[in-house]
Amino acid sequence: MDCFSLETHSKDETMELGHKIASLLPNGSTLTFTGDLGAGKTTFVRGLARGLGITETVQSPTFNIMKIYMKGSRPLIHIDAYRLADIDTDIGLDEYIGYETGLTVIEWPEFIERLIPDNRIEVTILNKGGDNRSISIKSKDLKVLEGIKSCL
Ligand code: ADP
Ligand code: MG
Repeated sequence: MDCFSLETHSKDETMELGHKIASLLPNGSTLTFTGDLGAGKTTFVRGLARGLGITETVQSPTFNIMKIYMKGSRPLIHIDAYRLADIDTDIGLDEYIGYETGLTVIEWPEFIERLIPDNRIEVTILNKGGDNRSISIKSKDLKVLEGIKSCL
């Protein structure tokens, strides 16, 4: 597993990061987003969505658990597993994770750990106070990681 980190200093910078890397992610990629409430997980996903040409408003699907955006260059599947903590009910999410022709992004992956593929791209966001965030991106897929690194 290789990893690199960077800092952002505003929500726009975090969105920009998502925007920039969107086109570098192969179809079928699963990205997980770990970090406290307000860390910036959804902000990053918003940037990714813009990078895919999705113009709809993107919010954490905390209540609905999953929201699918079909109007971009490829489908974006946005999962927020927060409400699945301690629930052992099969709601068929596995069919959407690693969706072959799109991207899957998952907030609170720790609650559905068993459903997440090994080749995930792990984004961890740490609130460093104020508008500063430390963002680390980790993956076993060194090619994808190199691609991301070199576009920043
Ligand atoms: P999460 O999905 O992790 O709960 P959100 O993306 O919904 O977090 O919220 C992040 C909040 O932090 C937003 O209010 C955003 O404006 C603010 N913020 C401040 N600085 C940053 C930054 N550098 N990156 C991302 N969000 C930031
Ligand atoms: Mg969120």
